[in-house]
Amino acid sequence: MHELSIMLEIVKTVEQSAAENEVSNIETLVLQIGELSSMIPKFIEEVYPAAVTGTILEGTKLEIEMLPAIARCNACGKTFNAVAYKGICPECGGKELKLLSGREFNIKEIVVT
Ligand SMILES: [Zn+2]
Repeated sequence: MHELSIMLEIVKTVEQSAAENEVSNIETLVLQIGELSSMIPKFIEEVYPAAVTGTILEGTKLEIEMLPAIARCNACGKTFNAVAYKGICPECGGKELKLLSGREFNIKEIVVT
């Protein structure tokens, strides 16, 4: 499964940075997922327990923060939610957009006790 292999990578990254920072008491892992990312939060949550078994993250909580798909219209400069408006500028009807956010998949925070 796509999500599982990605989560195994995330776990590796967290273990590395935990080792570098001599952190061992992680409580929660916070991920940021863009609305237009190919990652599906529900699947991430499902594979999390399996992905963290036997790692420093075993038994920790997972929090997912969704980031909206924000775009700016090239014609009039208005920023709006690209998903809600289906990629069409609500101000001028323009379809030339620059996506400002929405494709993220980041480790936002590692919360330690
Ligand atoms: Zn516009």
